[in-house]
Amino acid sequence: MNENMDCCGDFEENKYVSDKKFAVENPARMCQPMGALQAIMGLKNAMPLIHGSQGCATYMRFQLIRHFREPIEVSSSALNEKTVIYGGENNLLNALKNVSEKQDPEIICIMSSCLTETIGDDIEGIISKFEDANIGMKLPELVSVSTPSFSGSHIEGYDKAVFELVRHLGRPNVPNNKINLIMGNLSPGDVSEVKKLMEDLNVSSIILTDTSLNLDAPLEEDTLDLHKYGTTIKEIEDTPNSKATISLSKHVDSAGKFLEKNFDVKCFSENLPVGIKNTDKFVKNICEAMNIEVPKKVERDRGRLCDVLVDAHSYNYRKKVAIFGDPDMVIGIANFVSEMGMLPEVLCIGMKSERFLDDVKKLSKEINYNPIILEDSDLFDLENVLDDHKVDILFGNAYGASIADKNNIPLYRVGFPIFDRIGAQRISLLGYTGGIKFVDEVTNMIIDYYYDFEGYKLDEEEEIIFEDNPIKEKNV
Ligand code: SF4
Repeated sequence: MNENMDCCGDFEENKYVSDKKFAVENPARMCQPMGALQAIMGLKNAMPLIHGSQGCATYMRFQLIRHFREPIEVSSSALNEKTVIYGGENNLLNALKNVSEKQDPEIICIMSSCLTETIGDDIEGIISKFEDANIGMKLPELVSVSTPSFSGSHIEGYDKAVFELVRHLGRPNVPNNKINLIMGNLSPGDVSEVKKLMEDLNVSSIILTDTSLNLDAPLEEDTLDLHKYGTTIKEIEDTPNSKATISLSKHVDSAGKFLEKNFDVKCFSENLPVGIKNTDKFVKNICEAMNIEVPKKVERDRGRLCDVLVDAHSYNYRKKVAIFGDPDMVIGIANFVSEMGMLPEVLCIGMKSERFLDDVKKLSKEINYNPIILEDSDLFDLENVLDDHKVDILFGNAYGASIADKNNIPLYRVGFPIFDRIGAQRISLLGYTGGIKFVDEVTNMIIDYYYDFEGYKLDEEEEIIFEDNPIKEKNV
């Protein structure tokens, strides 16, 4: 039994409730069109168009460029004071004409913003007007995604974008013997890990959507162009013909459920394949859907991950962890660090989620440890909780750097955005081989902080201090 159970009794009471503030301070989530944008970045020859003010598109471009360090194109209907009062129809019609003529994309994805959702612009209606005015012309596919940021986060944005793409473009035809994989807001490095695992399993897939080459691209002279790689329209058209859909994140499975309901394509919605248990589940689902055995190479990589967990165990054992970010990533890492022998002490997400709470409950039972849960919270709450609950390492995006600094603990950077380090697009922890890299990096971080150069623990004295602390004593 741990201190949290002692203090708070049961799981439900471990939810942290802030009673001190009336606004979000340093949110643990991003805006809704930003998530949709990340899904569209994984399409080939696509142009995203934000129907809103210039500021929205500029903000998103800025965040994406400083995270991925790649040129990012985001067009805007550039509403101003006048169009806010009289409606943005003409601006959107002009934007559709300009983007179609000047950039000639295969698809334009139009996302609404807080502004256009508030004034109530009918984007579907405006698109129909544009198509009617251009009958006989070769137009790109036009897909609209409703993304009011005041009623959801980037996670809902990603989910809605993939759903709308599949709903608009999916065409039932002959079976293709493939698996649809809905990625969620993963780094291009993680998308590459999943693609490699699929290759090792010898299974063909349709990746929804594939950012691996677009957002980790080679240096080229032609910097501002449409993305040359990624998921094609033909592949999305083919999704109703696949054997199954696997949503890697539970919160982005709307397209999978749509395909299951309308085209009988079985949908698996599981935890992120992070760590042994969740990667096993992912591999098992694929093998079941395709009726195949697990190949030797995959078994070998699993064995290597088990080996590194054993090698690293003595360093990580009972180290306390705080994690903030997207619910799927937070619970995925919480499961993985538990397999590493660590204790998930504080879990913080920026949205409400029953599925997340259920998963934390399951994990608490398995490891007999109740994390403190910050649901629909922000980094202000996280900072306050960490004042009273000391942890040894923090996992989250670059906004956690000042919290880690204040607590004198290391920050393992994961999630979005990461603008204070190079290589955010190559961070990967999914699958067995991504997991090996993750355990190596986390353990070396722990060794750097808590061990001297000869391998002796630096905090021996601190453990003596712990004995004076009645709360810590219960946990020893
Ligand atoms: S106004 Fe809304 S849509 Fe625009 S950047 Fe801000 S939160 Fe996002």
